[in-house]
Amino acid sequence: MTRIFGLVLIPDRPCAQDPDLFYAKGPLRIERAKAICHPCPYRKRCLATAIELGETHGVWGGLSAPERQELAPRPRDPQPKGAAA
Ligand code: SF4
Repeated sequence: MTRIFGLVLIPDRPCAQDPDLFYAKGPLRIERAKAICHPCPYRKRCLATAIELGETHGVWGGLSAPERQELAPRPRDPQPKGAAA
C-alpha cells in the first residue's frame, strides 16, 4: 500500500496500525479513520500533499477524497468571449 511522501517509512504514524481502514468504503469506517488522523502530528503535511498530488482514494490528513476535492484548487474558468482587455 502506497502512502505518499515517505510516510510509509514512519512507523509511528497512526495509520500504520490499520492501513486498510484508511481505504474503507463504509461511512462509519471512514469516520473512524478520520478520527485517528485528527491528533496525528503529520496531519497538515499529509493533507497538503494529498491535495497537491490529487490523491483520489482513501482518507488522508483527516479528510476523505470528496472532502479534499472541495479544498483542491480548481482550474480557472475560461475567460468569457469579449472579456479580454
Ligand atoms: S494524517 Fe492520517 S493518513 Fe496522514 S499520516 Fe497521519 S494518520 Fe496517516
